[in-house]
Amino acid sequence: MIIDKTYIKNSVAEVLSAINSISINAKTACTCIDSYGIADPTCELCDGLGYTIRGTTISADVQELRGDERIVVDSGILNAGDILVRIPISNSVELNDIITYNSQNYQIKYIKIDQLGTYYEVGGHKIA
Ligand SMILES: [Zn+2]
Repeated sequence: MIIDKTYIKNSVAEVLSAINSISINAKTACTCIDSYGIADPTCELCDGLGYTIRGTTISADVQELRGDERIVVDSGILNAGDILVRIPISNSVELNDIITYNSQNYQIKYIKIDQLGTYYEVGGHKIA
């Protein structure tokens, strides 16, 4: 039997789309940064911060950690109250991006690709 990767990708995307909605807020370096890496303090795009934040709302499978999951023990990165998120591979995520889920913000601590290359598993650490 031949497993069609595209079919699996689409199926996973379909399953994930039925579950939760999250927002990924990615920082993008602003065009005002000069060759010394200094942002223009009068920049209207970023208010002198040196980066702009681009938010994208996507569908994902979100699992809130309660503290007894194996992943918590294995990685030592996530704690109870943090989240594990599965995101279709068509989205782009980076470490330290901020995920907003149920009005709570989480910082991305790790990103892993599943064996078939169909989705990212992302660990989000709860932040204030
Ligand atoms: Zn700027």
